[in-house]
Amino acid sequence: MNAMNFIGGIFVDAEHQQTIENINPATGERIGTLPRSDASDVESAVNAAKAAQKEWSALSIQERANWLDRLADGLAARKEELARRESRDTGKPLVLARRVDAQRSVDNFRFFATYAQQQEQEVFEMDDATNFVHRKAIGTVGLITPWNLPLYLLSWKVAPALLMGNTVVAKPSELTPSTANLLCEVASEVGLPDGVLNVVHGYGPEVGQAILEHPSIRAISFTGGTSTGRHVAATSAPMFKKLSLELGGKNATIVLDDADLELALDGTLRAGFTNSGQVCLCGSRILLHASIADRFLAKFVERVERMVCGAPEDESTQIGALISQEHLRKVESYIQLGIEEGGAVLAGGTREMTGQVGPTPDGAFLRPTIIDGLNHTSRTVTEEIFGPVVTIHRFDSDDEAIAMANSTQYGLAGSVWSKDAERAHALAQKIETGIVWINTWLHRDLRTPFGGVKNSGVGREGGYWSLNFFSEPLNVCIKHD
Ligand code: NAP
Repeated sequence: MNAMNFIGGIFVDAEHQQTIENINPATGERIGTLPRSDASDVESAVNAAKAAQKEWSALSIQERANWLDRLADGLAARKEELARRESRDTGKPLVLARRVDAQRSVDNFRFFATYAQQQEQEVFEMDDATNFVHRKAIGTVGLITPWNLPLYLLSWKVAPALLMGNTVVAKPSELTPSTANLLCEVASEVGLPDGVLNVVHGYGPEVGQAILEHPSIRAISFTGGTSTGRHVAATSAPMFKKLSLELGGKNATIVLDDADLELALDGTLRAGFTNSGQVCLCGSRILLHASIADRFLAKFVERVERMVCGAPEDESTQIGALISQEHLRKVESYIQLGIEEGGAVLAGGTREMTGQVGPTPDGAFLRPTIIDGLNHTSRTVTEEIFGPVVTIHRFDSDDEAIAMANSTQYGLAGSVWSKDAERAHALAQKIETGIVWINTWLHRDLRTPFGGVKNSGVGREGGYWSLNFFSEPLNVCIKHD
């Protein structure tokens, strides 16, 4: 399918008629095109968004929540199509796209629609006055998202942005345009007012840059890599735009000596290799208490070697393709670096496929890979690889585990595995990060804050934090008689 820009409620090509090819990374086949837009298309989208702003923000929050519910209904009705488009664009297993991407895209709209009803007027009483905090729309907001969880992450921003009365100009990754297009199809089907949601496809340095620079876009919510995030901040901050940055991660999975080993094995496997390690929350550094390390590792290697790496549509596939040949080469270069830095590859590291469908020689496949023996400060261990590669480290005390976990520039997530919840909770609080899971991974309550510290980001999204980011509080102080 060919994706198109969605501006003012109409599907259009790029003004200069240029296109980009959309490639299925599991086969190398061209599956469609998308517009290669530029600043002129962003200008049209901003004009449409500004024209829609007044009426949209004049609706009550409940009326806007009803629109989110309609979008959720429309996406839910096309969930299988959503999963298939996501799987084709990204190369991820279809079963994963169904369970995670399609489900969460619907849930994001549903969650914010319901959450709106739970908000109460914020009031602060003084002896002689009362303060009322009103949450007003910011105006037109810019949303820029990556390719790893395309509609999951876009809808996570679109839903609260619209709920708070803003109009949107969004730019999805040019590698994964198809489900953003599906969202626009649904918006059109349900009759969302024209100009409220605008999507402009194209390259980051062209479309994304134009969004960052546009003076009428007053807030930017960005999810992507840390170096792009640095550029986003440098461009937007001097214009005093409100900024939310959700960036990269290099997360630690910490297995203590008293962990339930079977549970920890399952969790470590899932945290390490879900979506081929292309989730910002993936646990790519596995820290094992020395007393259980050998036992854990023997079983872990065995399980990783059994993982089925194959065609996304094959229901037995656990590891699909990476996002592109270029990314595959980048991940392989890190495996090579790991060997040069003194690491030993215990599993994976090859392009071999083991599924029933295939092989597809032009697919960007890489088997799940384990590297042991690296210093925890080496480049392979501290830089984000964003692929199916984990490294193994041993520690003797909780303090040593904490020091290792904190020895990267990142601070997004982590998990601790232990039967002693109190000990794990105490340890979790010493990790420099935004989220720690204990005896679980990627277990999300959408009301809770999501985001990172250090080079993993600025600000939080989720629940109240999203509503806060996508609104401007107005405090009205009324003096008593
Ligand atoms: P990326 O290269 O930083 O791209 C993210 C988005 O920014 C894309 O839409 C990209 O467009 C756009 N972009 C690129 N240059 C730009 C510019 N000059 N101005 C404005 N926008 C620009 O990241 P990615 O490779 O797509 O995604 C992987 C990264 O995202 C990883 O580091 C991962 O950890 C991170 N991530 C973080 C979270 C989180 O919540 N913290 C969640 C998911 C992913 P193009 O695609 O056209 O380049």
